[in-house]
Amino acid sequence: MKKREKLDLIHKWYPKAITTIDSVNKIIDFVEYELDLEPKQVMLADSICSDDVNSIQYPARTAEFLGPFKMGGLDSFPFTGLTGMGAFASHVPDEGAVFIYYGPHIGITKDGTIGEIHRIGQSKNTGCCGAAKGALGKLINNQITAGDITELDYQMNIIEQILFCAKERVLHAPSPLYEATEVIYEAIDKRINELVDKTQYNCKYVILVGAILINSDSDIGSFTEVRRFDVIDLTTKVRRNSLPYLAT
Ligand SMILES: [Zn+2]
Repeated sequence: MKKREKLDLIHKWYPKAITTIDSVNKIIDFVEYELDLEPKQVMLADSICSDDVNSIQYPARTAEFLGPFKMGGLDSFPFTGLTGMGAFASHVPDEGAVFIYYGPHIGITKDGTIGEIHRIGQSKNTGCCGAAKGALGKLINNQITAGDITELDYQMNIIEQILFCAKERVLHAPSPLYEATEVIYEAIDKRINELVDKTQYNCKYVILVGAILINSDSDIGSFTEVRRFDVIDLTTKVRRNSLPYLAT
């Protein structure tokens, strides 16, 4: 399948998505041309789901950055919290930048089914994000109780609570899984910004890229619809919306 055909498939759900590889190439160009930094001066941290597909489809060129520091757990929520954010903030080169890529993921198969992908060596499709689908199933069946967070399944319980707080919105949406992914994105975006506000950085910039990460079948690859591309200049505290750069 050609790239434009793959994009047509993904654009039915996410009209602004680009390939994840293209997003990485553009961000590296941005770092070099707009921030005048080398990728090796940038510490990458990602808050993406632990799902093995995200390791398989991780773009190779990200190896030009330092890291990645892994912040995410089930469906990408930044479970390493303030301690995790503080840890890599203290590892970044003095004149460099922190680059945080975050957002929930969702599958779209090559026949256009949302919430599933075909994985290597399997005859059937499987859920993606499995955690989001599991939490949504419990929401639909009224199996989530307010405040029910256990030590045994802590991360899953947090995802359940996020959806529970948006129950009506999710259940009345044309695609509850699409909507659940939007709700989880908003929760992650809010939390990342809270963590950034409470963290001390000893470098020049913080780059925030918030996105919906779209995984497709093993022979199609991954895509990203960027929702936030902010650069915070730590000297002036000015935050610049750099989203238009990705559209060029
Ligand atoms: Zn997942």
